Amino acid sequence: MDDLRELYQTMILDHNKHPRNFGRLAAPSATADGHNPLCGDELTVDLVVEDDAVKEIAFEGSGCAISTASASLMTEYVKGKTLAQIEEGFERFHDLVTGPSHEHVDAPELGKLAVFSGVREFPMRVKCATLAWHTLRSALAGDAEVVKTE
Ligand code: ZN
Repeated sequence: MDDLRELYQTMILDHNKHPRNFGRLAAPSATADGHNPLCGDELTVDLVVEDDAVKEIAFEGSGCAISTASASLMTEYVKGKTLAQIEEGFERFHDLVTGPSHEHVDAPELGKLAVFSGVREFPMRVKCATLAWHTLRSALAGDAEVVKTE
């Protein structure tokens, strides 16, 4: 558990400092804005969807380290995946961050995202960790409204 906690902190710091896929896409096929008023996190997700899969993805915004790191890792995870795989990944990720804190977590299919199991010990941060995913799903669903986690 200590190893996971250390990995979690390292990963959050790294992705917060050097977010991957940060910026806007020139010609997105879908876009959505997300806002977490509890913490003040805001982000925009741009996507290019082709043949039922995410070919390109980028995000931009400002927020706490967890929201930025989660968005960065989310973009790495979903790039190249089909919409069905992404939906499954979202459900697994959601279970991972909202499960009981005493329960052992084993989620190898989530890869690096598994470090976010550390968030379940801090329920206030769950919305920070899931904001990017809610925004992604909103973009995929074609909702024009700003997603709020509240
Ligand atoms: Zn936050």
